[in-house]
Amino acid sequence: MKSFVFHNPTKLIFGKDQVETLPEHIPEGTRNVLLVYGGGSIKKNGIYDHVLEQLNKKGMTVTELSGVEPNPKLTTVHKGVDLCVENDIDFILAVGGGSVIDAVKTIATGAKYDGDAWDFVTKKAFPQDALPFGTVLTMAATASEMNAGSVITNWETNEKYGWGYPPYTNPTFSILDPQNTVSVPKDQTVYGIVDMMTHLMEQYFHEETPSPVQDEMIEGVLRVIIDTAPKLLEDLSNYQHRETIMYAGTLGLNGMMQMGYKGDWASHNIEHSVSAVHDIPHAGGLAILFPNWMEYNINVQTERFARFAVKVFGADPEGKDDKELGLEGAEALRKFWNSLGAPETLADYEITEDSFDSIVEKSMNRGPFGNFSKLQEQDVFRILELSK
Ligand code: NAP
Ligand code: FE
Repeated sequence: MKSFVFHNPTKLIFGKDQVETLPEHIPEGTRNVLLVYGGGSIKKNGIYDHVLEQLNKKGMTVTELSGVEPNPKLTTVHKGVDLCVENDIDFILAVGGGSVIDAVKTIATGAKYDGDAWDFVTKKAFPQDALPFGTVLTMAATASEMNAGSVITNWETNEKYGWGYPPYTNPTFSILDPQNTVSVPKDQTVYGIVDMMTHLMEQYFHEETPSPVQDEMIEGVLRVIIDTAPKLLEDLSNYQHRETIMYAGTLGLNGMMQMGYKGDWASHNIEHSVSAVHDIPHAGGLAILFPNWMEYNINVQTERFARFAVKVFGADPEGKDDKELGLEGAEALRKFWNSLGAPETLADYEITEDSFDSIVEKSMNRGPFGNFSKLQEQDVFRILELSK
């Protein structure tokens, strides 16, 4: 392992009916709250009413920003920043999935900055201050509820980047009630599962350094997800399965699985470029790209791919070399995701070679990338070719 510092300041409040504790987590002295949510799912499933009832108990003035889109847009962030300034907001509450939470992180920092919040996303400037914010999570996927990351898309330039700057972009608290995820439709449930698994694997395939404890932890969480996912998809309102998946999602990217090394993250980078050009669901892109990234890199730390196949998918090592086993693992992953209903090729989204140059160019904007193996332009192109 490499030297590391771990500090996660987010208070995690997990369990049934925990939204009722919301007032006690909002900082004393808060007068004006900005309530941020997405396209309306929280109004249909009653979470909106629940949250408002709790906020009203504290007698705070509530301003709303609704309509945060999946793959949140910079223009929406700008609206949020303006609302904060105009309404003298002192606390922001995100109620939704990763998109709402990511938008709030950039709004919270943008509200305390004289320039354009896009400067933070492109790393031209770094926040010196932020409004505090908390979250009520409604969808298990990104772990944005317990990390500092924020992914924002600028549709004027077709750029989508992840950024983050602890502690300003860490939620002060996050309330996770698995009941709040029961209304997530089947397709979004699948996307969430693919995203959290990919986070775990991006960290499993990390820069070369010993990681015996983390390896077992990641393999264990992946096995539980693989066991639970099909059961949940058969019975979407099953509390126990929703609980397991929600907890797994948060653990997947709250920093605990990445102590002592850097994860790879190349597939996430390529996916951000694909969805910056085509606005496809984040995890749809990952389901297509990640197994191909594995196959493309099979000659790098081949024994790690072999171990993955055996420990995560139960492949039988008898009579096989590491490369055969590793490729079996990539294929098992592809088949598993396919069995859940995830897409398999870029053609599933009608993405053709015509946009490959543009995707490659965007992926390379910050230079060669990936910590397990460094990808250059031609590598990204080859992975896209394999994903056709
Ligand atoms: P999402 O984009 O927040 O939500 C996807 C859809 O699910 C929305 O249409 C939303 O509808 C719906 N939904 C959410 N909760 C629901 C519920 N309880 N019932 C019914 N429908 C519900 O999905 P996400 O996967 O959580 O976030 C994706 C974004 O996060 C992407 O932009 C991705 O790049 C980013 N990301 C961030 C991180 C990070 O660490 N910060 C990591 C990975 C990915 P409404 O809009 O109507 O609510
Ligand atoms: Fe992700």
